[in-house]
Amino acid sequence: MKSAKELQKELTFSVEHISRTNPEMQAKAFEFCEGYKDFLSSSKTERETVKNMIEMAKANGYEEYNPEKIYSAGDKVYLNNRNRALILSTIGKMAVDNGTHIVASHIDVPRLDLKPQPLYEASEISYLKTHYYGGVKRYQWGVTPLALHGIIYREDGSFVEINVGEDENDPVFCISDLLPHLAKDQRERKMGDVLKGEEMNVIIGSLPFEGEDIKDAVKLAALVYLNEKYGITEKDFLRAEIEVVPAGKARDVGFDRSMVGGYGHDDRVCAYTSLMAELETKNPAKTSIAVFADKEEIGSTGATGLCADYLKNFICNLAMMQGVNQYTALQNSKCLSADVGAAYDPTFADAYDPLNSCYINKGTVLTKYTGSGGKGGTNDCGAEFMAEMISLFDEKGVCWQSQELGKIDQGGGGTVARFVAECDITTVDIGVAVVSMHAPFEIVSKLDVYATYEAFAAFVNR
Ligand code: MN
Ligand code: MN
Repeated sequence: MKSAKELQKELTFSVEHISRTNPEMQAKAFEFCEGYKDFLSSSKTERETVKNMIEMAKANGYEEYNPEKIYSAGDKVYLNNRNRALILSTIGKMAVDNGTHIVASHIDVPRLDLKPQPLYEASEISYLKTHYYGGVKRYQWGVTPLALHGIIYREDGSFVEINVGEDENDPVFCISDLLPHLAKDQRERKMGDVLKGEEMNVIIGSLPFEGEDIKDAVKLAALVYLNEKYGITEKDFLRAEIEVVPAGKARDVGFDRSMVGGYGHDDRVCAYTSLMAELETKNPAKTSIAVFADKEEIGSTGATGLCADYLKNFICNLAMMQGVNQYTALQNSKCLSADVGAAYDPTFADAYDPLNSCYINKGTVLTKYTGSGGKGGTNDCGAEFMAEMISLFDEKGVCWQSQELGKIDQGGGGTVARFVAECDITTVDIGVAVVSMHAPFEIVSKLDVYATYEAFAAFVNR
């Protein structure tokens, strides 16, 4: 007869803090996250992320993909999609009609974009108007130091890159908020309107252009500065992509330095961990593909979002090169949709189902389905692929847990999973648990970051 304790151990399932089950992981995780912090601090836009990733890829033997070229096993290629999305791939020993191993993350992050005509002056202060991008709680973006990142094209077709607010000697920018003393009316606003969309105006200057008395002299002073520094005029904002992001570097969080705080963990934490796994892949059996997509935060739209066919086209091109069936290649491919999970936050416990939540320090998060309002919009992964991934992770000693995104009907969300799955590719969601997701300063656990890297490495090298 087994005791109740023995039976409980045998029959129930629960996940423990990684420090208890895998104490040896801490040193590796802390070391790994030094590289991650550097990456996060220097990759604040899609463009910067693509640029940094291509540099790392080239240093690791990747060359630019050419669909006319014949590649053989072990070759490493990158495909730059319009400077805002990227594919890295290592050609496998087996032809792609046996399937590929895909890890798909996204590198766009909620932020404030400049409007096409952003510059104006009011009460002798110069401002840039913004339009928020993605799921932003706008009140979090007021009264915090902001940086400007992006590119502007000039009349002559040349372009200039802008990156102001990150160096400690740089100025920063800021959106104002009303003092509490006068906030009687503002206090009545609903959360979504504490700072309204049209109130997200970034202060950039307050001195007038010196000399003759003209209207909008502070706006002119800003334009003169921009013209001298970047060679641009007001018209050039119409051919620009400038993002307003939180200024500053990623930092350790906590006396024990167990966490990383920074802007854009969603989803650069999955981008970085899958990048590292892909870069280190040598001669995989099946072709490995790491996709770093744009526009996930607004529904994966446009030519650089995964609604577009560039991933599918890449696989089909490989199939054509190898003279094998492209539909079979898609159908036999498997994808980890690498995106972050909503870490259980005891301060806001009401929003979660504790039994079906993910927790920091408990490993990479397998998410069977996302969606909202009765799983709407989700790729609900089949039991077969869940079984396959759970066996793989258990076998390779990858620390993992499971979640669903909050309580039923509390909200919800989607990922790129459904768009990959719509290419006839078996897909499941997986990623790192994030505290304060979509905030200007998000938090992840270093152990979880490392566990997620191990999960991706196990998947692409199996
Ligand atoms: Mn995401
Ligand atoms: Mn997101």
